[in-house]
Amino acid sequence: MPIKIPRAHKKSAPKSKPKGRKFAFQTPKGMHDMLPADFLFFDKIEKALKKIVCYYGFERIETPIMEDARIFERGTGMTSEIVQKQMFTVKTRGGEVMALRPEMTPGVLRAYVESGLSHVMSPAKFYYLSPLFRYEQPQHGRFRQFYQLGFEILGSDEAVYDAQTISAVYRTIGELKLKNIMVRVNSIGCKTCRATYVKKLKEYYKNKLSKMCKDCNKRYSENPLRLLDCKEEKCQPFKAQAPQTLDYLCTACKHHFKLVLEYLDEMKIPYLIDSTLVRGLDYYSRTVFEVFIEGLDFALGGGGRYDYLSETLGGPRMAAVGAACGVERIVEAMKLQQIPSLVKNKNRVFLVYMGDQAKKKSLSILENLYDAGICVKEAFSKDSLKSQLRMADREKAELALILGQQEVFEDVIIVRDMQSGTQESVPLRKIVEEVKRRLR
Ligand SMILES: [Zn+2]
Ligand SMILES: [Zn+2]
Repeated sequence: MPIKIPRAHKKSAPKSKPKGRKFAFQTPKGMHDMLPADFLFFDKIEKALKKIVCYYGFERIETPIMEDARIFERGTGMTSEIVQKQMFTVKTRGGEVMALRPEMTPGVLRAYVESGLSHVMSPAKFYYLSPLFRYEQPQHGRFRQFYQLGFEILGSDEAVYDAQTISAVYRTIGELKLKNIMVRVNSIGCKTCRATYVKKLKEYYKNKLSKMCKDCNKRYSENPLRLLDCKEEKCQPFKAQAPQTLDYLCTACKHHFKLVLEYLDEMKIPYLIDSTLVRGLDYYSRTVFEVFIEGLDFALGGGGRYDYLSETLGGPRMAAVGAACGVERIVEAMKLQQIPSLVKNKNRVFLVYMGDQAKKKSLSILENLYDAGICVKEAFSKDSLKSQLRMADREKAELALILGQQEVFEDVIIVRDMQSGTQESVPLRKIVEEVKRRLR
């Protein structure tokens, strides 16, 4: 007796997000889970990234999520906000102070030198897609664990690489079809010309400090460039009149910046020169840039040249340039511009079983189908035929393969067209062929 098949229920999947239930523990503060629906965005971004890095010849790199905290203190800089307020430090049992990496650049540079690759690959082009950590007050769009995609070109001071780094960011975001992408770019000069500029800047700000915010007063002595970075309302009027880095660049830096802009023009990348752009990290020199979406109040990413970082970390002299983008921010921009994520991978075939013998036999059938490159979904935890078929329906499967005790005994399987409800018995040895034929 063939098994009786009930009509499949036409219950559609619930539209709204399932409500969270109570559990004794929650995600750590400021951190978030990445659920399958999130990965549809994440994977789309990764796909775009992989396409662009292939064009540009970047190779993937990954470093440990923890490093000796001093690499960031010295590299990223003691006066940077990241190190002062946002570093996630961990003391090991051995008493070492480690930091969950707040950014990738110092670690990538360390790996490049430590592995000896700096002797054989110069310039080297690396990319990453990695989790990072910052201990900050969770707020909109800011997380304690987040992902960045980024690029580093190590071992060259050529302006063409600054332009290529900017282009890699621009094109990765463009690959996602995000609209109104804008690049802001500036040059903050080299050690020599910056010293002259900073002197001028301090002279300018000296008698204005009493009217400025607390942070700016601190910046004045610790990292005067960042006076230009202040977002406080009361500091804004002073920024507008402040001396501009570009007016103080030495001949070499001026030439370098001019080339960067010429190369950007050549690649048809739209940019604005923003003289207040300095970036928050201590190690930048010459080119700094940020990538925005017009109308969004946060940058998707940014970067710059860091020709002194290697030496600062006790390494060889090495010019370099890099950039990073916040993946969560890109996702947010995609959602705002209604850019769809990847479509959920649909399994067109659903395997339904009845009874223990059939369940066991199903496994070898599944393996055969997998070997033929056919993805099959099942619900081995559900014993009832009705609930399995309901699930096949919810998954919008096109075919259900139904195996009962009788079928096992006769070496056949029932192939059911989920749309029309018609079904027929097919010899097991022909099932791969039959499924392939029907899916075509
Ligand atoms: Zn210079
Ligand atoms: Zn201020």
